[in-house]
Amino acid sequence: MDAHQVGGLNSVVVVGAGLAGIAAAVELADAGYPVMLLEQSSRLGGRAGSVRLADGTSQPVGSHLFLRCNTEYIRLLERLGTKSQVHLQKKLALVVLHMGKTGRFYATSLPDLLSFAPAFIKYPFLSLHDKHLVARALWMIRHGEPVMPDETFAQWLQRHKQSLAARRFIWELISAPTLNSPAEEASAALAMVIFRTAFFECDHGAALGFPGRDLSRLYATLPQYLKARGGEIRMNCRVQQVVFNAQERCFSILTKNGLIAAKAVVLAVPYTTLPRVGNATIAEDGALRTVQKLPAKSIVDVFLTYDKALTKHSVLAIPGLPALWVFPETKSDGAQELAVSISCPGELAAYPAAQIIRWTESHLQKAFGQPLPDLINARVIKHQAATFSTHPMAQTWRPTNTTSVPGLFLAGDYTATGLPATMEGAVRSGIDAAAAVIRYCRA
Ligand SMILES: Cc1cc2nc3c(=O)[nH]c(=O)nc-3n(C[C@H](O)[C@H](O)[C@H](O)COP(=O)(O)OP(=O)(O)OC[C@H]3O[C@@H](n4cnc5c(N)ncnc54)[C@H](O)[C@@H]3O)c2cc1C
Repeated sequence: MDAHQVGGLNSVVVVGAGLAGIAAAVELADAGYPVMLLEQSSRLGGRAGSVRLADGTSQPVGSHLFLRCNTEYIRLLERLGTKSQVHLQKKLALVVLHMGKTGRFYATSLPDLLSFAPAFIKYPFLSLHDKHLVARALWMIRHGEPVMPDETFAQWLQRHKQSLAARRFIWELISAPTLNSPAEEASAALAMVIFRTAFFECDHGAALGFPGRDLSRLYATLPQYLKARGGEIRMNCRVQQVVFNAQERCFSILTKNGLIAAKAVVLAVPYTTLPRVGNATIAEDGALRTVQKLPAKSIVDVFLTYDKALTKHSVLAIPGLPALWVFPETKSDGAQELAVSISCPGELAAYPAAQIIRWTESHLQKAFGQPLPDLINARVIKHQAATFSTHPMAQTWRPTNTTSVPGLFLAGDYTATGLPATMEGAVRSGIDAAAAVIRYCRA
């Protein structure tokens, strides 16, 4: 290895500056480890980052939402000093639109499940009988009713006698965007985690958080944060190969700019790019071979600008599959941009952009129950590998953060966090990987 070596035999290298890599780096820096964070692109945040458009405005890689129960994501923003830049509701308030009818989901100060009772009683899309069965099923979740590891969420809903209306207007309203899978494909165990943490384990855990359109600004303090703790970030630094030297128990990390030495490495890159990062030994690791079977799931983002405002609400959910969550932003000239996040898009993701725009507009028109204003701009972004499958079988393919190579650890939303592909899952995976590194370095 005659190439210029930087880093050091005591340093830890984190590959990938998505939320998993950022969380791992912050955790390691706080624990006193000299950490070097390497990112192939010129921006921080990965899938939870944003890009700058030609007109100077920022656009998220994908529209993002979080919940008050996403405690580690929120704590990360606190550590970076950027929590004040996101908007977090005190209590859940959500408008649901269907065929011109508006339903409101809101929490009150009443304790526990009773908090939702006033909104639930008035909710227009369910019969009294359906409401009774929904309340009973929520009660079962609250009391930790066990689910079978191979049970799908659809089977669970059937077991609890949930009607199609209850499924559409309550359960899938939340499970479709968080799991990005229809109930037939989603693990009941993962769905339980979502409902339990949002509604029962955290005070007002279902309150919505809006990181805004310029997601990358939330990580702008990171370079300074790491520098102050002896670490650094290298952007535009794609890692081509990681080589483990078994004799010296250290790593050489090959980037296009040269070699970096490290005592331990955290690979915080998507599982779809893992084999290209590892050398033969690493790529053949059992855990990494299995994870390649994990199917990727798409999300489609549609941005529609109308000449005048269509709604005053800051977020709207349109029930059904595909599931639409709409984030309106009114401009100073009165025009309004609707960022429409389409989860569980199914075949829609394969349509040409013009067809997706027509489909979205006709869906919006039906939901609002009125003609739309004049469309002045529209664009579509398809994310083919936005999340991974939440099928019960697929959960067994998610690796833990350790590998068979000593000192090599994994972080990423896809690791076995017990959560679906979310910002919270990514952050938790980074924290767990950092803890594993610290244990390894101390051993
Ligand atoms: C459209 C969309 C909408 C979403 N909506 C939500 C939402 O509303 N709420 C929510 O909680 N979650 C949402 N998610 C999921 C969430 O964004 C992800 O789960 C999370 O950001 C994943 O973080 P990560 O760090 O695991 O991976 P990534 O964000 O993919 O980060 C990996 C990083 O590694 C870098 N990298 C890859 N290869 C290399 C290499 N060889 N060398 C150096 N760097 C490399 C990449 O450039 C990237 O920056 C959404 C995702 C998408 C795509």
